[in-house]
Amino acid sequence: MNWNIHYDVCAIIIELLLLCLFLYKKNSPSKVNRIYLGFLSAAMASTVLDIITVYMISYVEAIPRFLCYAALVLYFLAAHASVFLYTVYIRFLIERVSLVKQWKKRLVTVLAAVDFVLVLTNPLTKGIFYFDASGHYCNGPLKIVVNCILMLALLISLSAVIRNHNAFSAMQRNIVYFFMISNMIAIVIQTAFPRLLITQFFMMLAVLLIYMTLQNAEDFVDSQTQLLNRTAFIDALNDKITRKSPFDVIVVKLHEFRNINDMIGVRAGTKLLCQVADGLKTMEQECEIYRVSGIKFALIVSCEKREAVLEAVRECFASPFEIGEVALKPQILTCVVSYPQNVLSQHEMENAIQYCIANAEKNGELDTVYADPDMLKKMRRALDLDKLLKQAIKENRFEVYYQPIRNAVTGEYHSAEALIRLYDETYGFISPDEFIPRAEENGMILAIGELVFVEVCRMIHDNDIRKYGIEYIEINLSAAQCVQKNLCDMFGTVMQKYQIPSEMINLELTETATVQSSEKLAEFMHQMNRQGIHFSLDDFGSGFATVHYLFSYPFHIVKIDKEIVWAASKQQKASVTLRHTIEMIKELELHIIAEGVETQEQADMLAEMGCDQFQGYLYAKPMPEQQFVQFLAEAACVG
Ligand code: C2E
Ligand code: CA
Ligand code: CA
Repeated sequence: MNWNIHYDVCAIIIELLLLCLFLYKKNSPSKVNRIYLGFLSAAMASTVLDIITVYMISYVEAIPRFLCYAALVLYFLAAHASVFLYTVYIRFLIERVSLVKQWKKRLVTVLAAVDFVLVLTNPLTKGIFYFDASGHYCNGPLKIVVNCILMLALLISLSAVIRNHNAFSAMQRNIVYFFMISNMIAIVIQTAFPRLLITQFFMMLAVLLIYMTLQNAEDFVDSQTQLLNRTAFIDALNDKITRKSPFDVIVVKLHEFRNINDMIGVRAGTKLLCQVADGLKTMEQECEIYRVSGIKFALIVSCEKREAVLEAVRECFASPFEIGEVALKPQILTCVVSYPQNVLSQHEMENAIQYCIANAEKNGELDTVYADPDMLKKMRRALDLDKLLKQAIKENRFEVYYQPIRNAVTGEYHSAEALIRLYDETYGFISPDEFIPRAEENGMILAIGELVFVEVCRMIHDNDIRKYGIEYIEINLSAAQCVQKNLCDMFGTVMQKYQIPSEMINLELTETATVQSSEKLAEFMHQMNRQGIHFSLDDFGSGFATVHYLFSYPFHIVKIDKEIVWAASKQQKASVTLRHTIEMIKELELHIIAEGVETQEQADMLAEMGCDQFQGYLYAKPMPEQQFVQFLAEAACVG
């Protein structure tokens, strides 16, 4: 036999090893992995068949001719399938991270179909190979055609990689290029030297290198818990959604894990997480389990098994976990999102999970939360709002309105509150009560806060409102802004730019802000005070907090919440509370502003109780800059 099969033998050994490694290691049950397995199996089958057929060709006289044809057809099918599977594999790798740009899916399918038909019909057509009269194996006239088909499929794949190069690391890209180019060269060499069986060897090299780089199992497995990770989870979601097979995702998040870490230390905390993972692993028969973030696990389960798995999860956390000497029973938040009832894409699924968990967290909801249409509607609105806010920040589309504050005794206006406004063509007017909390959640409040501050300073500078008697402007500040680094510096720079004296700015903080932050807040307030900026306590009486922050933090003004004002004008008991509240604030030598004054009766009642200043629709609604300046000018004239 004068064929060189050394390369083939070498290829088989390595492919076998790879198969064992692949099956032994943990792999996510994703489409990409299944295709890789198909690719590896096809490559291996073709190598084995390559050797078998070489022997058959060498001893062709001793073997029935139809058997030779059948084995060779099988060989070509396997070899070509591995090339096509490779191109599909690359496509799915790209799809995992981005939508494949201009992937010629149909063309590749047609190429594969034509190729297989040519191979399968070869015993009749003798187009690709045949045995001549003396029993020699010969290439048929169509051999060049199938080689071109394979080359074309590889070229399409190569160009997809080039166009979507972001989907790969530099190393992975080089491997892909190496594979494609070397295989094209191999096809050429094989055509030139048919007896040197080298294509299978190159194919094996590709399978090996892909295994080592693209198919890196570590990319899918969490090293601490040995559970599949977030990448694997995303893969699995995409896979199931493309197959349109219904499923539920149960997410389990450990509640207030930071406290546990504080209590037992980070190392013991990690041990606890591993034990939790082990507990969840007992359900591996029933569902797929992923660790999607440090303290969040996701279970993909069929709809029928959902309740049983949920029950098992509850049981898993019913008894304490033992970490050294300590027994801990972590609380969990669970939510369930169903495909396709609740969401239709992987992206939506991820958003819904995040929203459900965040909601459960906010409400301290320790029962399982099921995504419902109402919640999903709110989620979509919140996501729309995120986009809108981002755009509005970029284009500086916010407006600032001003609501004058009236002195109860003189009827003069010495201050005003700056209130942000957002109008959108599609959504119309969006209330700050809706978008400010969202901006606080998604962090955009920092940028928004800065825009408002700059705008107020510009307004003061451009209109020189001091000449109308305005002494300061109240600007609302969110809790997140107070702990923002360099906020004092930013304020300082802006005030300097517009030459605004610091007494002209008064910052409003709500009760909730004072409850959320403590030491850092006091530090921030003292720093601002040193710069000459004062604070008002907003929405006083609306929260559940005790009044200790009245004297714990350096406030100058207290703004009584409008609900309290409205209640006092209707109920005797509320009126008593308000009277005493006002007395107390005055005794603490703080100024008082009553908000939401809508009627003359409310104004009279508040004045009689000794309230200094009023803000409300009775006098003026919040208004845009020009109108505000005009309002002040007229009021000053009348005064
Ligand atoms: P807030 O700080 O309590 O502002 C007072 C709210 O009461 C304003 O609502 C104002 O228009 C409204 N208001 C004033 N007088 C009356 C009245 O007589 N009757 C009634 N029914 N309402 C009155 P607005 O402008 O919708 O703002 C809502 C909230 O959004 C504000 O409540 C504040 O918490 C927040 N906000 C507004 N602008 C900003 C901002 O620039 N930054 C931050 N962080 N929050 C802001
Ligand atoms: Ca306010
Ligand atoms: Ca208020």
